[in-house]
Amino acid sequence: MPGGRQGQKNAGAPPGRLWASADHQELLRPFSGPVLGTLRRRLLGWYATHARPLPWRETCDPYRIWISEIMLQQTTVKAVMPYYARFLAAFPTVHALAAATESRVLQLWEGLGYYSRGRNLHRAAQVICAELQGDFPSELAALQKLPGIGRYTAGAIRSFAFDLPAPIVEANTLRLYARLLGYPGDPRSRAGQLLLWEFAERLAQSKTPGQINQALMELGAQVCTPVDPDCLACPLKSCCRAFAEGTQKEIPAPQIRPAVTPVVEATIALRQGECFLVQQRPVGARWAGLWDFVRFPVTSLSESDPLDVECRNRLFCEVHAELQNRHGLRTETLQVLQELRHSVTRYRIRLICLTAESPVGRAITPAAATAGAERHQWLTLQEIERLPMPVTGRKFARALHRQE
Ligand code: SF4
Repeated sequence: MPGGRQGQKNAGAPPGRLWASADHQELLRPFSGPVLGTLRRRLLGWYATHARPLPWRETCDPYRIWISEIMLQQTTVKAVMPYYARFLAAFPTVHALAAATESRVLQLWEGLGYYSRGRNLHRAAQVICAELQGDFPSELAALQKLPGIGRYTAGAIRSFAFDLPAPIVEANTLRLYARLLGYPGDPRSRAGQLLLWEFAERLAQSKTPGQINQALMELGAQVCTPVDPDCLACPLKSCCRAFAEGTQKEIPAPQIRPAVTPVVEATIALRQGECFLVQQRPVGARWAGLWDFVRFPVTSLSESDPLDVECRNRLFCEVHAELQNRHGLRTETLQVLQELRHSVTRYRIRLICLTAESPVGRAITPAAATAGAERHQWLTLQEIERLPMPVTGRKFARALHRQE
C-alpha cells in the first residue's frame, strides 16, 4: 500500500503545479510494474465473469462504438439501448449518416438532450466520408480533429475498436482512479485531471488495452459506485488506497454545482384552422435546429404562483402583448392546456402551455418572422409529428392531439 498521504514537497518550489506534481508522483508511486500487472490480471478476471452483455461490446466497428459512446455521455445504459437500436436501424453505416438530413438526425436524437452532440455526429460523419473515404482513423490526434470527439471518446474508439493503447477518463473511471490513488483533491480540477490522465496512461499500457478500458469502466459502474462502493467484492481492494484508509465515501471530492435558477416560460400553440404555428430554433439558441411552438420567458408569474383567476389574467396580458410585439399577432382567445416542469442545465423551468386562435389569413409579420433568424411554418399535428422537437414541445403536441 502507499505510504504517507502527502508527498514530500520540493524545498523552495513555487506554489501551484510543482507542488501538485510532487504530491502526484507520490500518489502514483505504488502503481509501478508488478502492482500494475497484478491489478490488470485481477481486473480482467473479474470482467470475464461480470461484464454485462451490451450491443456495443459485441462489435469492433468504430462507427457503432462511436455512436454508443456519444449517446452514453449523457444518459444511462438502459436509456441509451432503444435510441442506439433505432439510430443504427436508420443509419447502419457512416455513409448513411452522412447522407441524412440534419433534421432527420435530430429527430432520432429527440429525447436524448444535448442536441449539439447529434449535430456533431452528423458533421463528423460527413467529414469522415468526404475526407477519409469513410474510414475511421485510429490515431488519437486524428480522431480528436473530428467534430464532437474529445480526448475520452478518441481513447474509447481507439482502444475498443482497434485494441490500441489509449487512456480513458470518464465519470466511472474518474471515481475509480481517484479512489485507487486516494486522491483527496477535486478530480475535475486541472491538477486532478493531470493526475488521473497520467494514471490512465499507465493502466492502458497493456496487451489488451480495449478489454482493460472496458473492465475499468465496468468496475466503476458496477462496484466502485458513487454511493456505497462494494469494496469487499472489489477485485482491486488490495491495491486501493481509499479502501485502506477508509476514505472511499469521501473520495472523489464532491463537485461544486452552480446554483439552480428558477424560470417561468410560456409556450403557445397558435392555431389557424387545422394548422399550428411552429418555429425552428435559431443557431446559437437552446435546442438550435429543433422545431417548437412559440415560446418565451414570462415575468408576470413566479415559480410557485397558483394559476388562479388573478394570476391567469396577469399572464394572459403579458402573453397577448408578447405575441403582438414579437409576431404582430392579435389572438382571440387564450387557454391554459397544461403545465410542465423540467430542467435544462442550471435552469429549473415552469412551462405554461397555452392554446390560442389566431385569425385565419393573418400571417406572421416578415419583420417578426426573421427576428432571431427563426424559420416558421403553419402545420397540422400530423405534420408536426415528423419534425425534430425538444421533449417539452413534443409533450405539448401530444397533449393537443389528445384534446382534438
Ligand atoms: Fe472502489 Fe472500494 Fe474497489 Fe477501492 S476497493 S476501487 S473504493 S470499490
